[in-house]
Amino acid sequence: MRRTEVSNPALVEGRAPTYEWPMADTRDLVILGGGLVGMTLALAAAKSGITSHVIDRADPAELTAEGADGRASAISTASWNLFTNIGLADRLEPLGCPIAAIAVTEGMKPGRIDFRPKPEEGSLGRMFANRDLRLALFEAARAEPALAWHSSAEVVARERGPHGVSVTLADGQVLSGNLLVAAEGRQSPTRDEAGFSLAKWEYRHRAMVTGLWHEKPHDGVAWEIFYPTGPFALLPLLDTAEGRHRSALVWTIPEKDAAAFEAMGDRAFLAEVAAKMDGLFGALELSAPRASYPLRFHHSGKLVEDRLALIGDAAHGMHPIAGQGLNLGLRDVGALVEVLSEGMRLGLEPGDAQLLARYERWRSLDVFAVMAATDTINRLFAIPGRLPGIARRIGMAAVQRTPMFKQFFMDEARGVSGKLPALLAG
Ligand SMILES: Cc1cc2nc3c(=O)[nH]c(=O)nc-3n(C[C@H](O)[C@H](O)[C@H](O)COP(=O)(O)OP(=O)(O)OC[C@H]3O[C@@H](n4cnc5c(N)ncnc54)[C@H](O)[C@@H]3O)c2cc1C
Repeated sequence: MRRTEVSNPALVEGRAPTYEWPMADTRDLVILGGGLVGMTLALAAAKSGITSHVIDRADPAELTAEGADGRASAISTASWNLFTNIGLADRLEPLGCPIAAIAVTEGMKPGRIDFRPKPEEGSLGRMFANRDLRLALFEAARAEPALAWHSSAEVVARERGPHGVSVTLADGQVLSGNLLVAAEGRQSPTRDEAGFSLAKWEYRHRAMVTGLWHEKPHDGVAWEIFYPTGPFALLPLLDTAEGRHRSALVWTIPEKDAAAFEAMGDRAFLAEVAAKMDGLFGALELSAPRASYPLRFHHSGKLVEDRLALIGDAAHGMHPIAGQGLNLGLRDVGALVEVLSEGMRLGLEPGDAQLLARYERWRSLDVFAVMAATDTINRLFAIPGRLPGIARRIGMAAVQRTPMFKQFFMDEARGVSGKLPALLAG
């Protein structure tokens, strides 16, 4: 059953809307999708005095149930700054595992690249269970008066007009605002209804995700091990209070092999995993249920239209190998909030076409660059044969020996290159 959670049904005290829009409970933003990106947007907007409706078809209790989303996310330094700036750092800090180094190898062969910053430079990001991120965001959302959260709610109609936007829910309630934001993830119906064209393709690969207990400590190292069949990533998670070591596994396999892997018992699956790790962490056990995700690339040519903006996976989706999808979505959040709050201070409406154009100009290049780089890395390591393998190892050795290259890649992993929105700049 649909539930609405509003800490204070009135708009934020002391902030009168800068534009005329007479309907009841009209907010600045109507955000469709309250996932990791949509909910972060609502909280970040609230810190700038921007009010929102957040509408999500899912039940938050189901989303945060143990095992519902067993993934973990690498949160870049820039994304961590955003979480800090919206007041989540105290809640999240004890739950994140700092990434002290990233090791990149081709099939555990000699000649790996180690990205290890100096201690005074800080970590390369932090690993969080998605469940922990969601719980922190949802707790903050419940306490935020500028945000009305409508969960388990089905949208049946969306309207965008010259004076504002509205959505109608299945129970007949109409929620209105000034700007519609699509944050509904890969299958965004709002994006599709608006007719945005997408560049997209299937990788014909599947990411198998689970958690591992392991005998030896990971020492905060994230491993990216490239095999011709697909990358195999081990991402460090915090030890338990009892000192048990654990990591998240994201193993990409060809789609044609997926059914066989999914049918395997846990013992056979662990044996396959162990074979790929060559004894790296000693004895292994599963620490979480196994899940799998089909992998696709999609990129929307446009990010805005009349009173509509796309953020997060609604706008772009990529291979998870570089752990950049959520981080890119959080950069969308920072840019959109900055553009809107600056415009609103000047008396413009959040749905103003100039503001949306500025958001699109800012984000388009960064999104395209990260997606193209991620896709290229993935394809380079997938080329089979001896000669491409030799070429890759020469390239890796060159990166390993050249501090400037290594610094470039570490800055990318931290998300601190390019023009950062103030909320992510620290
Ligand atoms: C295996 C794997 C590992 C990954 N690891 C990383 C990583 O380490 N680091 C990283 O940065 N990224 C990572 N990513 C990418 C990251 O998970 C996504 O980019 C991120 O979750 C996108 O968030 P989102 O809020 O845009 O979309 P989603 O998480 O898809 O959320 C969309 C929300 O919209 C709601 N919704 C959908 N349709 C409707 C509708 N019609 N009406 C109302 N609500 C609707 C849904 O219920 C959901 O809550 C990984 C992805 C995969 C597959």
